Amino acid sequence: MQTKIIKVGTGHTDLTEAADVIRGGGLVAFPTETVYGLGADACNPQAAKKIYTAKGRPSDNPLIVHIAQWNDLFAVAGEVPAEAKRLADAFWPGPLTMVMKKNERIPRETTGGLDTVAVRMPNHPAALALICQSGCPIAAPSANTSGRPSPTEAAHVAADLAGKIPVILDGGPVGIGIESTIIDLTEETPVILRPGYITKEMLSQTLLREVAIDSAVIAPESGKIPKAPGMKYRHYAPRAEMIVVSGEMQKVVAKINELTDKNHANGRKTGVIATDETKQFYRADQIESIGAREDEDAIARHLYRILRDFDTGDVQIIYSESFATPRIGQAIMNRLLKAAGNHEIFVS
Ligand code: AMP
Ligand code: MG
Repeated sequence: MQTKIIKVGTGHTDLTEAADVIRGGGLVAFPTETVYGLGADACNPQAAKKIYTAKGRPSDNPLIVHIAQWNDLFAVAGEVPAEAKRLADAFWPGPLTMVMKKNERIPRETTGGLDTVAVRMPNHPAALALICQSGCPIAAPSANTSGRPSPTEAAHVAADLAGKIPVILDGGPVGIGIESTIIDLTEETPVILRPGYITKEMLSQTLLREVAIDSAVIAPESGKIPKAPGMKYRHYAPRAEMIVVSGEMQKVVAKINELTDKNHANGRKTGVIATDETKQFYRADQIESIGAREDEDAIARHLYRILRDFDTGDVQIIYSESFATPRIGQAIMNRLLKAAGNHEIFVS
């Protein structure tokens, strides 16, 4: 299959061709503010199945359904909890996904067999235009091959899916760079199933009550099964082995250099995910700065591109500094530790 790449601007764009593909049961990759999505008509079970095939995604891993306006929610949800409206008023369009009961129009092929549906209104003009012009909610997971880092540029989508999908909409690099926060509204207490740009504090300030975090997210080594099925898979992985090194900055740099020397003695090339402040101090073969340590938005935006950059180099092991930044540090560390298969060393 020939993959057509169509550039989309931030202004009004005619997406007739892409919308025709969606309406015909085909797949379109499109930009959102978080990462690129791989979209299909959420009401068409055959179309949803194509997403799983193109990504190599396990069939029990449900898709997020994207809508363009508040009223679209009633076309996908069986019950709309009162708190969904408050959250939507505060954060939609934006990087927040809400889980609620599904209705009969959404097939189980879209929800990985669950009777709940995860819904989001993306904050990106091309994504919203595509949904409107297609005339249906669009199911879309991240547009990467399953297990690979999520795509933050159209070129990343093409690297994974060229030849497998008919259309990629190229809206340039995304603004946020990590996937949406997922909150489950089907239980007594709202629970965060995946941390993201919208934090626990922002959610509980809006709902004026406590919001929990799925314990499997906080303690991935506990062996508990996460409530978002996708969170149980090793995700976001670069090809090289990866280890996160945490602790006081000078000691982290010293430890990574010590490990680099050991690897070099064994003929193994190493990479480092560093910051603008530390990059000059490393002796590794490939050193990538993720940005300034205080700029957590930049760290989130650059993370997946850097993981992919290591795949085009020839390092066998990647050491990463730790980024437990104040606001979205939990989301960043969640992705980073998943990329590392939870392999973390603490230096003190
Ligand atoms: P992706 O869009 O690739 O970032 O993956 C979507 C994420 O949403 C996965 O981690 C899914 O497990 C999660 N998800 C989607 N639908 C549901 C649902 N109904 N209940 C819980 N988690 C969900
Ligand atoms: Mg994904």
